[in-house]
Amino acid sequence: MHLLVIGGSDGGISAALRARELDPDVEVTVVLADAYPNFSICGIPYYVAGDVTDWRDLAHRNRVDIESLGIELLTDTTVRNLDTGAHRVSGTGPGGTEVVIRYDRLVVATGAVPTRPPIGGLDRLGSADGVHLLHTMADAHAVMDTLGRRDVSSAVVVGAGYIGVEMAEALTTRGITVSQWEVLPEVLPTLDPELGRLVAAELGAHGVRVETATRVTGIGRAGRMDARGGALAVRGTRTVSGEDVEERADLVLVVTGVVPDVALAAGAGIAVTAGGAIAVDRSMATSAPDVFAAGDCVVTHHVLVGETYLPLGTTAHKQGRVAGENALGGDRRFAGSLGTQVVKVFDVVAARTGLRDHEATAAGFRPRTTASAADDHKAYYPGARPVHVRTTGDEVTGRLLGVQMVGAIPTAVAKRIDTAATAIFCGLRVDQLGDLDLSYTPPLGSPWDVLQAAAHSWATPTGGAPRSP
Ligand SMILES: Cc1cc2nc3c(=O)[nH]c(=O)nc-3n(C[C@H](O)[C@H](O)[C@H](O)COP(=O)(O)OP(=O)(O)OC[C@H]3O[C@@H](n4cnc5c(N)ncnc54)[C@H](O)[C@@H]3O)c2cc1C
Repeated sequence: MHLLVIGGSDGGISAALRARELDPDVEVTVVLADAYPNFSICGIPYYVAGDVTDWRDLAHRNRVDIESLGIELLTDTTVRNLDTGAHRVSGTGPGGTEVVIRYDRLVVATGAVPTRPPIGGLDRLGSADGVHLLHTMADAHAVMDTLGRRDVSSAVVVGAGYIGVEMAEALTTRGITVSQWEVLPEVLPTLDPELGRLVAAELGAHGVRVETATRVTGIGRAGRMDARGGALAVRGTRTVSGEDVEERADLVLVVTGVVPDVALAAGAGIAVTAGGAIAVDRSMATSAPDVFAAGDCVVTHHVLVGETYLPLGTTAHKQGRVAGENALGGDRRFAGSLGTQVVKVFDVVAARTGLRDHEATAAGFRPRTTASAADDHKAYYPGARPVHVRTTGDEVTGRLLGVQMVGAIPTAVAKRIDTAATAIFCGLRVDQLGDLDLSYTPPLGSPWDVLQAAAHSWATPTGGAPRSP
């Protein structure tokens, strides 16, 4: 049995590791287009910020770790053709060598590629000009090269999704003056704007100029540097007023999302969904015999809405593990995602799980969303801070559908969103959140946890979350 995995990041390596774990005799080969197997690209912002000083430390496992498990790694090898009938791939290896590999079972984990929004000039400018996309370790090296080579004192980050805000923080930490441009009305648009505003305030408090509701229309060389500084000119139009805006910067980072990388699979005739991702069932099987797929290249099965697309590292790991097991004949099912995510932005943490109100409506629920805020621990113990919560439940069944939160770092937002994710996953009603036996000690919590206070205010929207005894 030869298991071939195309892709050496979260999805692919997870598949290979699971196969190796289950069967020490199976031959496992991982082919990846770049030189960075099993790197945590999620850590790139912290390398750029300087929190992680050596990029090699971003590896979940290094090459030696992986090869010592008996997994063959073919780095710098790009698969260009897939023949599912002949069970064979071909491509280009280091130095342009031709590579042909046969397989018994295949896992496709080619991930995603960053979107290139229709911004004038973006196609003509690249990292040599200080204009960057950010998805791979090579992209991270290119950003660091610009930071080292040029005297970068200003940057524009185009996009205020979670990667955009992480990078705004990273560049600010390096002493760079950052502007963050976002076409939608608020930063972190995966949250309700009421919470996005808290994140925008945090960015502003740390000197990031937030330019929301502004569509970037062009990036160009600014010509002669002048007092305003910056060799690049970023131009945009405010979506409400129609006013044009322009800003100079030494570095421009375009981080506006990703699209699944399906060229190889689609070229081989493997079914792709209308949304453009590889179609897989819950076993991660594709439409082609003996071919499985996992990670950012596939559709995401969502616990509440069915098929969607939610490219996240946590999900890629889980899907890869399922794909690796089933490629060896297993019968594992991907249990489904809730799109649970958390992001640190300077001193606050923002998180969400499940659905927001409009997403729940689109999925056929009758949602109601309430806002609440409660201290993370008893106010008499020093350092208590509010956690802002938005809770979405179904009016018909009372089922908990989604929770969003923003709070300061010590308020354990990640722990609380994970509790909410567990509750949604298990199909709990909002009122059942209040029944959970959650931990309590005054320096860390309250008899009614933040989440339970939120549940109470959902159940009694007119007011009274019970007061702590
Ligand atoms: C800056 C940043 C921060 C992030 N932070 C988080 C976070 O905090 N939490 C979270 O859950 N997610 C985060 N993510 C998202 C997460 O990193 C991705 O969801 C995850 O990496 C997807 O893994 P993957 O294996 O599907 O694909 P990718 O990581 O995209 O890897 C694709 C792999 O396929 C290889 N490949 C592609 N085409 C070919 C080919 N034709 N031949 C050979 N090899 C090929 C590539 O070389 C690569 O090894 C972040 C992403 C970025 C960029």
